[in-house]
Amino acid sequence: MTAKSATAAARATVYGYPRQGRHRELKKAIEGYWKGRITADALRSTAAGLRRTNWQQLAEAGIHEVPTGDFSYYDHVLDTTVMVGALPARHRAAVETDALDGYFAMARGTQDVAPLEMTKWFDTNYHFLVPELGPDTRFAADSGKQVSELKEALALGLTARPVLVGPVTYLLLAKAAPGVDAGFVPLTLLDRLLPVYAEVLADLRAAGAEWVQIDEPALVQDRTPAELNAAARAYRDLGALTDRPKLLVASYFGRLGDALPVLAKAPVEGLALDFTEQAAAQLDDLAAVGGLPGKRLVAGVVNGRNIWVADLEKSLATLGTLLGLADRVDVAASCSLLHVPLDAGLERDTDPQILRWLAFAKQKTREIVTLATGLTQGIGAITAELAANRADLASRAGSPITHAPAVRARAAAVTPADARRSQPYPERAAAQRAHLGLPLLPTTTIGSFPQTDELRTARAALRAGRIDTAGYEERIRAEIQEVVGFQEKAGLDVLVHGEPERNDMVQYFAEQLTGYLATQHGWVQSYGTRYVRPPILAGDISRPEPMTVRWTTYAQSLTGRPVKGMLTGPVTMLAWSFVRDDQPLADTARQVALALRDEVDDLEAAGTSVIQVDEPALRETLPLRAADRPAYLEWATEAFRLTTSGVRPDTQIHTHMCYAEFGDIVRAIDDLDADVISLEAARSHMQIARELAGHGYPREAGPGVYDIHSPRVPGPEEVAGLLRTGLEAIPAERLWVNPDCGLKTRGWPETRAALENLVAAARTVRAEL
Ligand code: GLN
Ligand code: ZN
Repeated sequence: MTAKSATAAARATVYGYPRQGRHRELKKAIEGYWKGRITADALRSTAAGLRRTNWQQLAEAGIHEVPTGDFSYYDHVLDTTVMVGALPARHRAAVETDALDGYFAMARGTQDVAPLEMTKWFDTNYHFLVPELGPDTRFAADSGKQVSELKEALALGLTARPVLVGPVTYLLLAKAAPGVDAGFVPLTLLDRLLPVYAEVLADLRAAGAEWVQIDEPALVQDRTPAELNAAARAYRDLGALTDRPKLLVASYFGRLGDALPVLAKAPVEGLALDFTEQAAAQLDDLAAVGGLPGKRLVAGVVNGRNIWVADLEKSLATLGTLLGLADRVDVAASCSLLHVPLDAGLERDTDPQILRWLAFAKQKTREIVTLATGLTQGIGAITAELAANRADLASRAGSPITHAPAVRARAAAVTPADARRSQPYPERAAAQRAHLGLPLLPTTTIGSFPQTDELRTARAALRAGRIDTAGYEERIRAEIQEVVGFQEKAGLDVLVHGEPERNDMVQYFAEQLTGYLATQHGWVQSYGTRYVRPPILAGDISRPEPMTVRWTTYAQSLTGRPVKGMLTGPVTMLAWSFVRDDQPLADTARQVALALRDEVDDLEAAGTSVIQVDEPALRETLPLRAADRPAYLEWATEAFRLTTSGVRPDTQIHTHMCYAEFGDIVRAIDDLDADVISLEAARSHMQIARELAGHGYPREAGPGVYDIHSPRVPGPEEVAGLLRTGLEAIPAERLWVNPDCGLKTRGWPETRAALENLVAAARTVRAEL
């Protein structure tokens, strides 16, 4: 590759950076403020300090243009709601009284006022607060946060580029406000919203912004012609403004497809595009529209979502091709670095051999700078970096961790028959009925029981070495004993052990599987002040020994009723981890499935007749584009079946999912070939039972009759009413009685009362059959 006549030196930049700080100072400050332990001023100064540290680190690493406005006390979409003045009516007074407290009220709700709804940011595990709009929404510009953060960065002598959520994406992510007809289309507010953006842009220019980045990730999803027209109009109008900075319209999480020609033609000065695997066709698409003559192209060549070192030579080759397609090419990560942890250098316990394969935000920043240098000065300027990178990649590719012959041979030998139960569902159902001898409308729970402070304290004590493993396991057994005793007394039919030994439904298994890596400091924002440490699928996956069998068999030893084994499914294991980028997801899923299959088989061999494999992430991992979904569902359902198909016909396989909207994946749910499925339904009054029936779902189902998201205890009559509603759609032979989800976030008193009511309701309704 030659760094041919790049007219200007390539700049290195990022769209956003982890907000929390090295020691999660932001989380601590915000929660301290909520508890009244620190003042608003103290919180503000902690936040300003974190922003300054981030910018300075970026600048010192060689990033030429730092982002501003990406910082948030809670969520950048909520910040946008404030910026455009779209405050929900129920929060307006609170925001006017105290902007900060009102902001947190919108995010978290108060005793009297509900928060905004939270949902996933595209296909990441970050959650944003959904704007609530209606035909009466009146926008008003409030550029205060954007302007002051820009000024902070400029005052440090940095080149800074404010980052805004774009108007089209903002409206496409919004929903109808409560009380507004659900058919209301927020995008119809575009003409009202654009003048607000015009005002913010003018303010940012006045404050010294040369460029402003406007993020439109919604354009990488399937869009109707009307939506594409709206995007064209938005950027025609914003482009036509005279008092504005230069505009960089950014997209990420995939290729623009039909939206690319729209933006390429728009009168804006630059586009930022994703050029990673996720957007594979983007380069060809860009060539097909004739490139971006006269425009600045910011090329997202370093993957902003995974934690692997980049292949610098491959990225340079992409950048080299792009030089021929735009006026100026700059280098960036494919999306904000918000979605990766801060610094792999903080990991002290990681095998140094693996550590060199990892790139968190700080390491990615360095890669971006190296690429920009190579692009500007030629590869001669980065020979040492390229050699080191080549060695890191070779170490990973040649490692027995990533290439375990036994795991690979086993995965390669899988046949379609391995992923099929030995008998079809109707025959299995009969065998299970005979084997389990359950009553009609059998009662059960989803797995976890309240995770008490005592349990968390015991786990912390174990980590700190204050108690030994034997002492810890003694506590766990005592808890299981209590949970089983309660369930017997309450009269539940299929019991669980309560999952007291699990810190988290993915991490618990990741810690026990070979090839999975846990981090010490790999925190990533999930929402607000909640951060998670996703484990890393680093190598080939195998299960050195049984993971749950001793707990399940212990529970089973305490009772004559069936105890349900409880596992997290392969798709969820992938969805809530960082995945490998050196092999197809389907291959990783298959390895995880085979490891879990061994666990399922061992549970059965140890006498477990009912085994539940949770897949709450099956739907949330759906690819953004409809065209990519069938292939995903194909491998995802196969992985589930591979996990569960090794058992006898009379062993009953359950699955669980935490959501009620499933219409778009009902075929896939059927393809799982599970014997029983439990789903959320209490809040929608068993709507899901009707939908399952409408789709002809042939198996057993437990639409939740107890909403575990709230401490409220449903009375026996209420539960009985829900069951009668369920029976209108699902015959008694196939209807189960269970809560919506696990009980780990609930307290014991309400759990006891609610489950007793649930059993009473099942008995009442059984008597009516
Ligand atoms: N078995 C898990 C539990 O009960 C399921 C959790 C989930 O679906 N998210 O906690
Ligand atoms: Zn659930």
